[in-house]
Amino acid sequence: MTSILLVAERDEQGEISQSTVQAIAAANGLVDSVVTAAIAGEAPASASALAVEKVVTLSSIDDADLGIYDQATAEISALVESTSPEVVIFSKSDFGSVVGARLAFRSDSAFAADCIEISNAGDGVSVTRPVYGGSALAEFDIVSSRAIITLRAGAYETNTETGSPSIEAFESGVNVEQTASVTGTVAEAREGVRLEDANFVVSGGRGLGGPEPFSVLTDLANALGGAVGASRAACDAGWIDHSHQVGLTGKSVSPDVYIAVGISGASQHMAGCSSSRAIVAINKDADSNIFKEARFGIVGDWEKVLPSFLATVRELKA
Ligand SMILES: Cc1cc2nc3c(=O)[nH]c(=O)nc-3n(C[C@H](O)[C@H](O)[C@H](O)COP(=O)(O)OP(=O)(O)OC[C@H]3O[C@@H](n4cnc5c(N)ncnc54)[C@H](O)[C@@H]3O)c2cc1C
Repeated sequence: MTSILLVAERDEQGEISQSTVQAIAAANGLVDSVVTAAIAGEAPASASALAVEKVVTLSSIDDADLGIYDQATAEISALVESTSPEVVIFSKSDFGSVVGARLAFRSDSAFAADCIEISNAGDGVSVTRPVYGGSALAEFDIVSSRAIITLRAGAYETNTETGSPSIEAFESGVNVEQTASVTGTVAEAREGVRLEDANFVVSGGRGLGGPEPFSVLTDLANALGGAVGASRAACDAGWIDHSHQVGLTGKSVSPDVYIAVGISGASQHMAGCSSSRAIVAINKDADSNIFKEARFGIVGDWEKVLPSFLATVRELKA
């Protein structure tokens, strides 16, 4: 039996996030797994149908616990101490990356970040993660008695399996004094699906030549029900906000289809999208590195290719 604690996150509606549902698929894929999901605050409606054994609510964590998530770290550490799971899974989000690493330090556990696969290995688990900026995948057997893992969004299919977990409250009684307070929040301006959750991502790079073409990329992303990404060169040029940046210093995405338009395929960019199921490249330079990474490629000027691509998608969707 592998006991797994899955730290759930919410979407903007306060329901269980897609990346959490994908992490449940990963957890349930392990042999003899018994999965408990922990969630901050009251359990949302969608928690009662999760494909897990138990949902534990952590009422002492609230929206004021931002920054380095002191209260969440303390509360989840207490839960881990009291339940001794062999594996703890977080989404690879800001929250998961910070709290997962802090929890691993406190509980003297192994920490594996940004994984795209978790499997059984002997009595323990092994994880797969992109290395060398996404140019290769490495598999690690975790020898520590506890593995703390952050899982990249999109690495697993969104699980349609449901269950009827018991719901319990956990109160550690720990109350950490907040060393920082939130003085204001800025909501990211966005329409449609979140970049990290999108099944289709249409990304633009320096080859677009300016900010205006991003409206064509947005039309294509909307027609596909996806989201718009960008290379750092396009973001640094001010053509699109940095919240769209994909790559080593941007977001990691694993959509079904990643369409790279006017992007050369530098290793730092590929670090954020190499685990996509299929990459489609549109680039006028046949020698561009992106064609080594792409499953499908069109050598040509995006200005000629994209309008007919968009028209065809609209036709097929009609
Ligand atoms: C520490 C570090 C971290 C980094 N982090 C990131 C990161 O997170 N994300 C990231 O993206 N980059 C990152 N970079 C930068 C990265 O190295 C590249 O410089 C960047 O990805 C290049 O962006 P690009 O492909 O848009 O531009 P370019 O490399 O300039 O490529 C533009 C491409 O557009 C093509 N093109 C030109 N005109 C057209 C046309 N009309 N139609 C079709 N194609 C055309 C060209 O053939 C070319 O291949 C990082 C770099 C460093 C050093």
